[in-house]
Amino acid sequence: MKTTFDFLSRCEHEQFCYHHDKQTGLRAFIAVHNTVRGPGLGGTRLWHYDDLDAAALDALRLSEGMTYKAAVAGLPLGGGKAVIVADGREDDPVCRAERFAAFGAFIDKLGGTYITAEDVGTKPSDMVEIRRNTAHVVGLPAEQGGSGDPSPVTAYGCLRGIEALVESVFGCHGLDGVHVAVQGLGKVGLPLVRMLLDAGASVTAADINPDSVAEARAYGADIVTVDAIYDVDCDVFSPCALGATLNDDTIPRLHARIIAGCANNQLAEARHGDLLHEMGIVYGVDYAINAGGLINVYTEIEGYDAERARRRAGEIYHTMHRLMQISEMEGVSMVRSAALLADDALKKVIA
Ligand code: NAD
Repeated sequence: MKTTFDFLSRCEHEQFCYHHDKQTGLRAFIAVHNTVRGPGLGGTRLWHYDDLDAAALDALRLSEGMTYKAAVAGLPLGGGKAVIVADGREDDPVCRAERFAAFGAFIDKLGGTYITAEDVGTKPSDMVEIRRNTAHVVGLPAEQGGSGDPSPVTAYGCLRGIEALVESVFGCHGLDGVHVAVQGLGKVGLPLVRMLLDAGASVTAADINPDSVAEARAYGADIVTVDAIYDVDCDVFSPCALGATLNDDTIPRLHARIIAGCANNQLAEARHGDLLHEMGIVYGVDYAINAGGLINVYTEIEGYDAERARRRAGEIYHTMHRLMQISEMEGVSMVRSAALLADDALKKVIA
C-alpha cells in the first residue's frame, strides 16, 4: 500500500503541512508543489476521505497539477492545493464557519506561499470565513470585491480555445457552421452552449438534469440522451461534466476531430492522450483549455476587473495554437506538448 511518505520521497514538492485544530475539529493539509513562478494558488477541497493518507495524497497530486496549469497559462503563480477532511460536523453552519476561520489562520502561517480559493465542496461563503484570518484567499463573492463565479470566464476561455483548434484543424476562421457536441450543461456547459450558438456554431448537448436540458433547448441546441452524446457526428466534442469520460469505451465511439471542453481530468488514464493522438484526434488538454477559472481568481489578487479577466482568458486562443505548433514540430500528443510548454515556462523563470 502506498503511503504519503512513499509518495513524498518520489515527488518534488517544496512544502507539505498538516494542521489539526482541536477546538473546531479541523484536519487539513496544504501542499505547495512549486513556487518558481510565484505563490502556489489552488483551491481548497472539502471531502470525505477514507483516511488521512488518502487526503494527503489528494493534496499532493492536485497541487502538482496546479503548477502545470499556471505555467501553461503563463501566470506568475506556482502550484498549491489544500484539502480539508470532512467529518459531517461541517454540516452545522456555525461549526463550518469556525472551522474555515481556523483554516484561514493555518494558511496565514505559510506567509503567502500558498493562496487558496474555492474547489469541490467549498463555496464563496467559506472563503469569506477564511478571510477573517488571512489575506491569502481569492474567490470571494463579487459583492465583497471578489471575482465571484468563475464559470462564465472558464467557458469563454474554452470557446477561444475551440476557435483556435478549429482554425488549426479545419483551416477556417470562426465557428460558423461548426458542429459541437457539449456533454454537461452546468455552470460552464450552459454559458459555453450560448457562446457557441452566438458564434454561429450548431450545438448538440446532453445532461442528466432536465432543467438544464430545457434551458439549452431554449437557446437553440439539439438535445440527445447522455449516452448518445458520444455518437454524435460532430466536429468538436466538448466534455463539460465529469472526469474520465474519455476512456477505452467512449473514445472509439467519437466522430469529432477535436476534443475541447471545460471538465477536469477528462482522460481516464494518461495513455488515452497518446491514443487520441494516434487516432488523429486533437485534444485541447483539459488543464490548458479550462484555465479561465484560475485566470479569473488570479485577476482578483490585483484588484478584480471583469474585463481584464475575460481578456486574459481569451489568451487561451494563443495557448492552443502554441500547443498545436509544439505537437506538430515535435511529433508528440497534445498532452505531451502541454507538458513541454509547462517545463519550458518553469525553466525560463529559473534561468
Ligand atoms: P456543474 O456541477 O455546475 O455542472 C456539471 C453538469 O454535468 C451538471 O449539469 C450535471 O447534471 C451534468 N452531468 C453529470 N453527469 C452527467 C452525465 N453523465 N452526462 C451529462 N451531463 C452530466 O459543474 P461545472 O462548474 O459546470 O463544472 C463542470 C466541469 O468543469 C467539472 O469537471 C469542473 O471541475 C470543470 N471546471 C469548472 C470550472 C468552473 O469555472 N466552473 C473551471 C475549471 C474546470
